[in-house]
Amino acid sequence: MSVEQKRVLVTEIPGPRSTELHARKTAAVSAGIGTTLPVYVERAGGGIVVDVDGNQLIDFGAGIAVVSVGNAAPRVVERVQEQVADFTHTCFMVTPYEEYVAVCEKVNELTPGTHEKRSALFNSGAEAVENAVKIARSATGRPAIVAFDHAYHGRTNMTMALTAKNMPYKHRFGPFASEIYRVPMAYPFRWPTGPENCADEAFAEFTSLVHAQVGEENCAAVILEPIQGEGGFVVPAPGFVARMAEWCADHGILFVADEIQTGFCRTGDWFACEAEGVVPDLITTAKGIAGGLPLSGVTGRAEIMDAVHGGGLGGTYGGNPVACAAALGAIETMQAEDLCGAARHIESVMRPRLAALAERYPAIGDVRGRGAMLAIELVEPGGTVPDPALTAKVVKACHAEGLIALTAGTYGNVLRFLPPLVIGDELLDEGMQILENAFATSA
Ligand code: PMP
Repeated sequence: MSVEQKRVLVTEIPGPRSTELHARKTAAVSAGIGTTLPVYVERAGGGIVVDVDGNQLIDFGAGIAVVSVGNAAPRVVERVQEQVADFTHTCFMVTPYEEYVAVCEKVNELTPGTHEKRSALFNSGAEAVENAVKIARSATGRPAIVAFDHAYHGRTNMTMALTAKNMPYKHRFGPFASEIYRVPMAYPFRWPTGPENCADEAFAEFTSLVHAQVGEENCAAVILEPIQGEGGFVVPAPGFVARMAEWCADHGILFVADEIQTGFCRTGDWFACEAEGVVPDLITTAKGIAGGLPLSGVTGRAEIMDAVHGGGLGGTYGGNPVACAAALGAIETMQAEDLCGAARHIESVMRPRLAALAERYPAIGDVRGRGAMLAIELVEPGGTVPDPALTAKVVKACHAEGLIALTAGTYGNVLRFLPPLVIGDELLDEGMQILENAFATSA
């Protein structure tokens, strides 16, 4: 690895060069584009991000679950360099190329289910979700889409409608797309009658709402993140997803798993649905698929994917050859380095430390997630009242010590951890130590 796997702080965070660049950003870039941590990046690799002041930060964010294989992963770099020298774009809809087909073959093979599948490639996660909706409507001839509380599916018009949280995603951006219906999430920590009742009662509410307010025969698809990402790493109560998917199948409703954040080894399996033994009709993928290059996809049952009329799907850049080459390098890395195993290892290191932290600090109301997608939810001790102020304080203390950590959650009170799957144990340990110290000084 060309970047030394060591945390180094040579200035305060952010340093003077970052601060200068940030002033340029403010003058040149729309204020609508936010910044979590204004350190400007020069290089990155493994579990380290190097900034323009020479600081080396520990990465517990992986560019929001994207560089699971690490930044500038060798197989990704090699394939991208070769591809970019051969050709950069022809448009797959005009004159196609093998790399696109090879990515679809790989994703068809790796996603849950042994049935015949097809895929289509796009650029962003939101675009994949938009297309999953188009495909579901076209294949079923039905208009309605059901989404969940705390869901996040993107920032385009259709996906804003599917996303639950107003601020900052939807505020003042309406009106939104129609025929979207929302149902409660089986969120164990916040289930009113307690986590033990969550799966049963959430399932009963789900079926009752779809029946009474939508009508099964009007419903094209239900879309669910098998572990909710931006909503706060909410793991649905065990059994809920499988029952819901079965009920959908019984009513001709497609089950769409949005695996954009959970997919490609992140949760310790290739896809998070596997842990529930659920085979979705359609799966959306992005983020981890291509080691940092923009690529996304929809994969699903052949008869559903092929129900769309010829030319009905696509876009100028979807499945760009350089992004496809990166995806082939990223997937090869995940297989060769057993990154599903690496995600499980990360959980075995982090979860006990997070649990111990929760013992010490009653503000940590819940520890949850799976694999290298773990989170803690901060509340007023003893209850479920969110504590976003403490969350912000802890994350700020982490940043100051050179740990890139992210928040999430509908109430802004979740600290989430998404290290690159190739991070070493020493950095993992040091990152956890920084988090523990941040609680000691903030809580
Ligand atoms: N779905 C999920 C589950 C996501 O986590 C995200 C991104 N955070 C999206 C969709 C949207 O992806 P993108 O930002 O690439 O449009």
